[in-house]
Amino acid sequence: MPQAPFDWTDTEARRRADAGLVRTLRPRPAEPDVLDLASNDYLGLTHHPDITAAAAAAARRWGAGATGSRLVTGTTELHAELERELAAFCGFEAALVFSSGYAANLAALTALSAHGSLIVSDAGNHASIVDGCRLSRAETAVVPHADPAAVAKTLEAHPGRRALVVSDSVFSVDGDAAPLGGLAAACRAHGAALVVDDAHGLGVLGEGGRGALDAAGLAGGADVVATLTLSKSLGSQGGAVLGPARVIDHLVNAARTFIFDTGLAPAAVGAALASLRLLRGEPGLAVRARTVAATLHARLTAAGLTAVRPDAAVVSVRAPSPEAAVRWAADCRAEGLAVGCFRPPSVPDGISRLRLTARADLTADQIETAVATILRTAPPVSPPPSER
Ligand code: PMP
Repeated sequence: MPQAPFDWTDTEARRRADAGLVRTLRPRPAEPDVLDLASNDYLGLTHHPDITAAAAAAARRWGAGATGSRLVTGTTELHAELERELAAFCGFEAALVFSSGYAANLAALTALSAHGSLIVSDAGNHASIVDGCRLSRAETAVVPHADPAAVAKTLEAHPGRRALVVSDSVFSVDGDAAPLGGLAAACRAHGAALVVDDAHGLGVLGEGGRGALDAAGLAGGADVVATLTLSKSLGSQGGAVLGPARVIDHLVNAARTFIFDTGLAPAAVGAALASLRLLRGEPGLAVRARTVAATLHARLTAAGLTAVRPDAAVVSVRAPSPEAAVRWAADCRAEGLAVGCFRPPSVPDGISRLRLTARADLTADQIETAVATILRTAPPVSPPPSER
């Protein structure tokens, strides 16, 4: 008898179970039943009444869906308004909104490279960047993490080649920042473009949360492109690419995830726009998120845990094994604290971690509760000391 076509999925499931890497979906209730340090809602805006009201108003005015691709019927005045305000806030000439940050990365990497061009990509880059490189048909050189010298050396080995260098601004696994100044210098020296995914920098880094490129003095550069998600600090959904107007015009004409994808839903556009305006009016939010991260890190490392010093709002605490990380996260949850749990294959170095989000709206009491819970449930075997 021939095998059924999906019998191999059982083998895969057994392999995952043996390695402690099973993933399951756990729907969350509408009313939070735990203290949430697992989401990417860095500024606590997802449930902000002004933001949800803006989402509802946009849906009522423009409809529940965008109705078509951006080039056909899917562009509303609200999309154009968000693009203008995002570009101005972050210091770029122009912006283009996508249905997700994932789609924005695929767009930038595929439309700005070509068969025969070169992409130099940090080994710790997000999966959407990895997939963008794969789809691009360019030659991709993966370089060691946060290593501008390795980037320069790679560019040097390909003189005269059209090239772009791509990096997360803040790496989602460890929460460390990319050496953007060094990367920009390497790009400038070799005529390469710099593409920075600022998913974890917008709203947290730069003046008033204008992002990592603002912080590095690189926003608006003629050779610089930023990609964003609207789903973290802005508490909504969607993505964007920011850059020189001619680059954005090119994306409108060439980026397949723009041309062949339904536009971002009006409710998400309205929510993102309201969050952006709120952020503009409350520049202290970004500082607050960074302060909460620094406090969490200081308290946990003082108690003996190993955590990378956070450059933004992600605090990553090492666990001795994938199984220990899963158990640790489950024990936290049982005690009323939701934390992220990163395991292979989501971690490039194979080290499992708890991942904490330092939300700007956490109170001092909530921070104390979170620290106490993490310490009480910590696995008995300490991970090796951090190099930082
Ligand atoms: N880039 C980075 C660094 C991310 O962390 C994420 C989201 N996890 C994305 C891109 C994708 O963004 P979105 O969720 O909006 O598709």
